[in-house]
Amino acid sequence: MLIGIPREARPGETRVAATPETVKKIAASGKHDIVVESGAGTASSIPDADYQAAGARIGNATETLGADLVLKVRAPTSDETGALKRGAVLIGLLDPYDASGVEALARSGVTGFALERLPRITRAQSMDVLSSQANIAGYKAVVLAADQYGRFMPMLMTAAGTVKAARVLVLGVGVAGLQAIATAKRLGAVIEASDVRPSVKDQVESLGGKWVDVPYETDEERQIAEGVGGYARPMPPAWMQRQGAIIADRCKLMDIVITTALIPGRPAPKLIKAETVAAMKPGAVIVDLAVEQGGNVEGSELGTIAVRNGVKIVGLANLPAMVAADASALYARNVLNFLALSLNVKSGDYALARDDEIVQATLVCDNGQAVSRP
Ligand code: NAD
Repeated sequence: MLIGIPREARPGETRVAATPETVKKIAASGKHDIVVESGAGTASSIPDADYQAAGARIGNATETLGADLVLKVRAPTSDETGALKRGAVLIGLLDPYDASGVEALARSGVTGFALERLPRITRAQSMDVLSSQANIAGYKAVVLAADQYGRFMPMLMTAAGTVKAARVLVLGVGVAGLQAIATAKRLGAVIEASDVRPSVKDQVESLGGKWVDVPYETDEERQIAEGVGGYARPMPPAWMQRQGAIIADRCKLMDIVITTALIPGRPAPKLIKAETVAAMKPGAVIVDLAVEQGGNVEGSELGTIAVRNGVKIVGLANLPAMVAADASALYARNVLNFLALSLNVKSGDYALARDDEIVQATLVCDNGQAVSRP
């Protein structure tokens, strides 16, 4: 079987779907021909020669995209889609909520697996690209905030006087939020955090953060807040209003706010209103990790650092791509673990594991048709 690893074509995408470590494992049986596009790993600091040493050969875009099995990070662009082979298998972050993109992919005749759809079960944890990349995004969000903030993060006692520790608020405490708390803590900040899911309180406190509580007033609110399958659901307007008021109060005191709140397949919930930003301290920094899904913060702009009343709102996209080498290393291992459901890496035997619930959950198109889901 020909396995292709193209260079990612989307602007700013520095990651690559396989590394020499994973190529070596896939190549071990000697049964498969692995072709990596020249320069595919350059932005992740992986030279072509390292892929060759691991058992791949170097080819061009047409050859890698035309393979029997194509490993990608991002959904193919329309040009890339045109180069895919009918009947091939494609694995990557295929944007399953973009119906027209999935339709276009289906028309190309590939069998597509969108890793965003991995079920949150124990067996799928080693393949969970959303977690591996969110972890990186949470770390990078704090590093970016520290860079944009015109003061120290830790409390310092110097001969010239004492410097106060930065106060950091993290909104949305999933994988990215937890890593943001841990990273800000390591830098010496004083941390508060909040989430819609009540189960997160203990995790925040165990990382040394203070929990900001938004109380529930009805059983319905409490039930919705539990989420589904590890993900949050949209909260009723009354709860969102109460949350807005509590967050507005906390934001006035904060130096740095990191927002990470997401609801799969929906626009990100708006947690911070423009008037809340206007009431924050000049020099404060907000990093809106949800900016690609519409943003948690009014006034955040995709791809820029906007300044509103002296408050910087960082709306940069694709933070994992800014930590390219580690993001690729973790992503590539996730992909290999997913592939191992169908590929026996020792013997090289390959049979698409169509009966496996993980494989079924991620299937987005097959036989020229998009796979519809509730
Ligand atoms: P996510 O990226 O979808 O969302 C980020 C956070 O935003 C979540 O914690 C969510 O509750 C929160 N949020 C949504 N709406 C909000 C609102 N209005 N106000 C405040 N917060 C809001 O979530 P995620 O990081 O992918 O993961 C969520 C949970 O799933 C985590 O607790 C994680 O530990 C768990 N998880 C489990 C597995 C597994 O068991 N296999 C794998 C990965 C993650």
